[in-house]
Formats: sequence, structure tokens, C-alpha cells
Amino acid sequence: MEYMYTASAQSAGQSCSTARTPALLDAPEDVVAAATVVVQDRVWQGQPRRTTVEDDIEDEDELVQSTAHPFNDDGLSDGEELLMRETPGGVGEDDFEAISVWDQLTESFVRAGLISGNDLTEQDLEILRPFALKVDTHMSGKTFAKLPFAFPQSRMDSWKTIQSRAAQLSGFEPEVYDCCIGSCMAYTGVYEHESICPFCQEPRRDAHGRARQRFVYLPVIPRLKAQHANRETATKLQYRAQGHLHEPGIIKDVMDGAHYRSLLGKKVSVGEQTLSHHFFEDARDTAFGLSSDGFAPFKRRSKTAWPLILINYNLPPEIRMHLDNIMGLGIIPGPKKPADFDSFLWPLMQELLRLAIGVHAYDALTDAFFALRAYLILVFGDIPAISMIMRMKGHNGACPCRMCSIRGISIPNSRNNTLYVPLHRANHPDVRNDPTAVRVYDSGSLPLRTHEQFLVHAHEVQFARTGAEAERLAKDYGIKGIPLLSTLSSLSFPGSFPYDFMHLIWENVAKNLMSLWTGQYKGLDCGSGDYVIESSVWDAIGAASAEAGDYIPYVFGPRPPNVASDKASWTADTRSFWMQYIGPVLLERRFKHRRYYDHFVSLVKLIKQCLKFELTVPEIDDIRVGLQRWVVKYEELYYQYSPERLPTCPLTIHALLHIADSILFAGPVWASWAFPMERYCGALQPAIRSRRFPYASLNRYVVDQARLAQIKLIYGPRARTQLALTPVRTLNGRHVHGSHTRTQLDRGIIDKIVGSLCTRFDTIPPNVIRRSLPQEVDEWGKVRILNDGDTMRAAAMDSPRDDKRDATFVRYEVLVDANARYRNRPVVLQPSTFFGQLQHIFEIQLSAMPRNGYPHPPPPVILAAIQTCTIQRSNTELDIHHYSRMGGTDYVDIQTVQCVVGRIKDRSQYAVIDRSGSLSRALFVGESEDQE
Ligand SMILES: [Zn+2]
Ligand SMILES: [Zn+2]
Repeated sequence: MEYMYTASAQSAGQSCSTARTPALLDAPEDVVAAATVVVQDRVWQGQPRRTTVEDDIEDEDELVQSTAHPFNDDGLSDGEELLMRETPGGVGEDDFEAISVWDQLTESFVRAGLISGNDLTEQDLEILRPFALKVDTHMSGKTFAKLPFAFPQSRMDSWKTIQSRAAQLSGFEPEVYDCCIGSCMAYTGVYEHESICPFCQEPRRDAHGRARQRFVYLPVIPRLKAQHANRETATKLQYRAQGHLHEPGIIKDVMDGAHYRSLLGKKVSVGEQTLSHHFFEDARDTAFGLSSDGFAPFKRRSKTAWPLILINYNLPPEIRMHLDNIMGLGIIPGPKKPADFDSFLWPLMQELLRLAIGVHAYDALTDAFFALRAYLILVFGDIPAISMIMRMKGHNGACPCRMCSIRGISIPNSRNNTLYVPLHRANHPDVRNDPTAVRVYDSGSLPLRTHEQFLVHAHEVQFARTGAEAERLAKDYGIKGIPLLSTLSSLSFPGSFPYDFMHLIWENVAKNLMSLWTGQYKGLDCGSGDYVIESSVWDAIGAASAEAGDYIPYVFGPRPPNVASDKASWTADTRSFWMQYIGPVLLERRFKHRRYYDHFVSLVKLIKQCLKFELTVPEIDDIRVGLQRWVVKYEELYYQYSPERLPTCPLTIHALLHIADSILFAGPVWASWAFPMERYCGALQPAIRSRRFPYASLNRYVVDQARLAQIKLIYGPRARTQLALTPVRTLNGRHVHGSHTRTQLDRGIIDKIVGSLCTRFDTIPPNVIRRSLPQEVDEWGKVRILNDGDTMRAAAMDSPRDDKRDATFVRYEVLVDANARYRNRPVVLQPSTFFGQLQHIFEIQLSAMPRNGYPHPPPPVILAAIQTCTIQRSNTELDIHHYSRMGGTDYVDIQTVQCVVGRIKDRSQYAVIDRSGSLSRALFVGESEDQE
């Protein structure tokens, strides 16, 4: 495998001398072996790992799994779906077709000399298109087998043949490891030769000697190598070193974070050996982020599987999170939380050791071999998954926070043992009775954990003399032992494990606030406060939220649910949208006291601030102070310093206090949030074809999906367009398309058009323009802004669509005379922003005006007729603009139309919401294109 691209270089004209000595660049086996031993000893010696009580406790704050959309296809349904364990033989013969096929491959592939779009033959594409079709659409094997009969002319191959060719072209094979039937551990590393699970004593194999459960791991190295061997992808991978420019004092990507910057100039070490090279000294050195998250294959089950994905920070941010660029590593199967998560990370660890040393690879850009290196610098996901990876006790430990050692306290005299982390605990009996206990933590100087201290604590626990001692220390520190990933010199504990903004804000804080406002928060009334919104009012807010879906274009995101009645269909996406845009409009003047609304809006502003593309250090300080104030105020409003009300202070409120530090250390919140994982899980969900063998069907899909993604990456644009299975579009300028008619213009409209054209052709008298206007003009149905911009529809041509999601309201900018009100002052044109409904899109072809400098007809002009919204008041910080009536119609050049906007009907008014400044747009464009 290590020499895969030798031949490719030769075919690319590489000189023989380099080709003869490729092994020189490869990680020396003795160094790898020595590092492996050191890592194993450090992590698995000392106190044995145990399954502890908290492993079995449901994670209170994360019970709702955002990605778990109920799945009702193929007879799998809501009812009584119990998660079946993979029974013996459950991993059937053809579950790993794609793997067994690998064995049939010959060296011819290795020698074939990849990797460019031209190497993909027409015949290959013919095979890959149905492969893409099945993978993308989750078509069942049964349906797929019928295709050749439905299209007899198609000469389509069988799935097996297709899959085997796809396997070959993707250039990597999955590694299959046995694991415990109860998902305690994988038989890797120190467990490699065990025959029963050391945690639950279940045998490894069934009566036929077959593994009872498997963990399928997709290796990184061959994929990363192949990506560098493709010119186009290799160019994109240069972003980290070439595209991104670090400006001191500004955070706009991971590479601006203190962690990454501290690695620069530092020597890489593996095991006990310090190597001669420095982190990121080569432009091709890869920075990876690892993400994991609990994933529920079936609804009403909490976490039952943990997908592992890698984010490649060498890619530009706008494509980094696209599904094809997310590198799936495999899924840790459920049903239980792994007792030894590290055993599942072991295959990755071995690759990371190798990649830290350097592996032999071919670079298409320089046409030369080089030592390909990669480093894991960030790890993120939901709290339970990260607790397992960091070997922390998590929510339920005495020190539940991974960033600081704030002590948790529980409700006095209660059977609920959950620990909560308010700043203020002076009224708690335990605290009153303990003179050493902290009474009020200062939000600005929390007892932060450091890397050294974390590892000292982990070491103390792991090498405690007795099991009881280890348990006591573990409780005290909140750390259960030495985590595998702490042996990587590229990671810092706990800083490299930032709290995930998505879970924190949308899954927890937002959800909890809504529960509080509706009086449904963990059985608490509003105490001495008055924050509950009456149910009739809340119902009205709910209805208005759902109705807003009609006025909000598709590109803004999924249709918001009715907040009052439809709790099941919330996702992080819809909650984020509701919080940022709908909530601030619909909650205004709904609380009995304004302080609750103001407190909420101050959070929304802080969130928007966090989501800015670029943050300066002073702005991050503002975020820090803002969130500190917010949490302190939250305790006053909702917790009210009452020990009985401790459930209002879960870890996820406290974690807000660490966001600003994490931005400085690890980069912007979006660089390590869980939306890509959510997207990945969304793609996995329909792959579960069998309720009895969910993990087998997931594994199959994960392999196929990764292969398809890899093929698109390594064979260039031709493969990508062909395998997208959508019509090819070429865009130039602002693109008008959709339905189209010829329209006769009436006099009033002609006057307006002439007026508008006069500003464009300002040297030509109006009557000349009027004469050269055609009788009829082309009228178009929609316009799309280039480079993944919005699509906007003209109301006059818009036929009612099923989804009814209005995409006719736009923001546009017109030059306005700043002195219009003063007759005698000179005209001073300034750009001014307006909102309105796009009525018509006219394409106007003037005839030649020979006396005015146009001997030939000028290029056609596209004009937009927009009826303006008469804005009455605006909240500029939140970008929300209220209007209750429409004004006149402007005829403007289509170039002035900037984006589509949404609206929310709020009582007798509409609020225009403009999301164009928001980050989500920039990061999520490009994948929802088919929808418009
Ligand atoms: Zn087990
Ligand atoms: Zn903390």
C-alpha cells in the first residue's frame, strides 16, 4: 500500500532516481513500533478500566437526538422498535461484499497509475453513475436489482460488479475489527488476542467461530494520499498554508487559534521520540479535526452508535463541511456506551502515529514524492461522546466541566443525585456547612484546568495503588484515567476539545429556555419570578412560527415547526433559526415583564456575534463579558439562588462561560461545531434498512458513501459533475431562468422603465430611449445570483408551489439622493437599502441609437420591478425590519438585487428578516441547490 503512487509518478514522467527510492520517505517501521508500545503502556497499564455507574445513566441534557428523524420506510416504524443486537451470523455473508471484493483485486490497480479525471473511462462512468444513484438515494438492493428490467436497453451491470469496480476506483479498503456484542470494546491493540470481552465476559465469537459484532474502520492514509495525487484536490488542500492569511489579533479560522499557532515551530514527537521536523512546516501537512456524536438509529432511543468523522482543515472553510469532504471513519456500534472508547480509536491512532512521522506520497502539484504528514488538532462533539474520548466522568462527576474544576452540587434532600453547577451556591446547606467551599464562583476567574494538570490528574487516577483510591481520585478530578489521544503531541487537554456550540446553544440552552417559558422545565414553577408565558399566548406564537414557513424561502433552512404543538420536529437547524430570527420578533411584548425578553435578546445578539466571520480580540472580549453577564443574570431570573431550583443550572449553561476562551484557543465556533456531523448522520439515517441488523446496514452504507465521496475527490470535476446526477448548468452573470413569456408593456410601466434606463444611459435623452424600446419584452420567472447565491422569484410569474415557501421578497440597494429633501442642495448619491417584493423580471433589448453613441443595439438590460415594503422601524443589531404596508414599485437594474429575505407575520405587522450577513449561509450553500 505504501508504494501505491510509484507507478503514477512514473506515468507522469517522474525521474527514475526518485522512483527507485520511495521507501526513504516512509515512516520507519521501528519508530512506529516503538511509539505503539509506548502509547499502549501509557494508556492501558495501571488501574484497569471499569464500566462505571455514570456510563449507564442517560444523559439528562442530551436525551433528544437532533438527527433522529423518525424513520418510517420499509416497514421500520415508530411502534415498538426495540434495538436488536446483532445476532450470531447477523453480519451476513454479503454484508461485506465490498470488502471481499478487495481480495480479488490485483496489483494492476496499484500499477494502473492514477489519478486524474482523464483516467476515468466512459465505461467507468457508466458503472459509477448507477453506483452514485443507489448510494445517494439509499435505493434498496431489491429496487436496484429491478432497474435492468425496467430499462432493458441500459445494459446495466449487477450491483456486485458495480460495487467492486467502485471499490477498485476508490483505492481503499475498509479494515474490519471484531468487537464485543455489547459494544464494550473492540478487539484491537491490547485486546487483539482476547477471546472474551473483559468488561462483560461475552465471548468474542459464535459457535461457528465468527465474530459476533464488527467495527468497520475506513483508513485515512490511502484516501489522503490519493487526494494529493489529484491536481485539483491537492490545490484545494493548500488553503491552510496558502489561502489562509493569519492576521494577528483576528480569529477567522482554526489557524488563527492559539493552539494551532503554538504548534508552529514546535517539534513533533511520537511516543518518547522527538522527531526532527516541526508541526506544519510543509504546506501539505494536514490539520484534522475529529468529531463524534451519539447517533440514534431509531427514535425514542438515546445514543446507540457513535460515528467518527474527520474534518480536513486544509480545505477552504466554504467546502470543508460538505458531505463529500467529510471523511467518515466508521461507526462505533451500540447498543451500550463503550466501556473502552479508546479501543475503537486505536486503528485511527495507529494511522495518526504513522502520519505524524510521515508517509510516502505523490504530490500532483509538484510532480514529486514527499512525506505526507497529518496532525489531529481538535476533537469535538456532544458532551457524552467527548467525555468518553477524554475519559472524563462528564455530567455526573463531582467536577463535571472539562474546562474548569467547578464543583457540582445536588438538590438537598432529593433522590435526584444529578450535580449542577451554578456560580452562586451560598444558600446551599452543604456549602453553608463547609467553611472551605466556594460560595460564589467568579464568572471571570474560574478554576481553569491546564494540560499539565489534566495529565497529572489522569496519571494519578490510572496509577493509583488500589481500585478504591482510583475511584476516589476519579470522582474528585472528574477524570477516569489517561485518554489515548493524550499521547498525541498535537493535542492539548482540555483546550483542543471545545464545547460544541451547536449542542450547547441550540440543543440545550434554547430548548431549556423554551421549556422554562412554557412552565414545563423539570417540574419547576416560576418561583419568585414571572417568566412563564400564558398558554394561549404561547399557542399564538406557535401558530405564527409555523405560518412563518410560508413567508420564509427554502434557502433559509427547513420550515420552522409550531413551537407550541410540534415538539418532535425540532432540529438544531430549526431551533437555531427560530432563536435568531423568529423568537426575537414573536416574543416581543409577550412576557409579563420586559426583562425576560431583553435577557433573551441579549443572548441572541451574543450568538450572532459568535457567528461572525471574523472576530477581533476586543470583540471576543465583548463576547466573554457578555456571556458572563448573561449567565449571572440567568441565575438571578431563573435559578433565583434557590437550592430547590438547581436543575435550572446544568453544565450546558455553565459551559457558555468557556466559549470566548475556546474561540481564542481553538478558533471560531463553526470550525468545531457539530453541524457537519449532524449532516453526516442525516445521510446515514435512511441507510438503516434492517431493524434487526442496523449496524450492518450502516456499515455497508458508510463504506459505499466514503467510496463515492473519494471517487469524486480524486477524479476531478468531470467525475463530480457526472456523478452528481443532475443537469449541468453553466452560469454567467446573474442568471435568469425559470418560466418565460413575452410581455406587452403598458404605458405606465414604460414610463417607469424609461425613468430607470435614463440613469443607466445618462447621456441619452429620455425620448430617444422611449423610441428605442421594443413593443414586447421578455419576462422571466426567477433570477439567481452567481456563486451559489440566492434564487429569487418574480411574483407575477410564480405559480403556487406545494411548499408555498415565498421566495419573492428581496433586499436591494439603490442610489438615493441624500439631499432629496432640500431643493437647493446638490445631488449626493448614496447607496440605500430597501426591501420589497420582486414583481417582474424584464429583459429589455433596446434598438440601436446611432446618434447617441450606439450604432448597434446595446447589450440587453435586465430590470427588476420591485414593490417596496414601507419599513416603519428596524432593529439593526438583529437585522429585523417591521412594516405593515407596501409602497410603490421601483424599477431597478437586477444587479442591485442582493438577496432573498424572509418575513414573519407578527400580529398586524410583518417583520422582514435578513440573514445575508449570517455565517450559516456562507457555510451551507452548495448542497441544497436542487431544491430551488
Ligand atoms: Zn462486552
Ligand atoms: Zn467550567
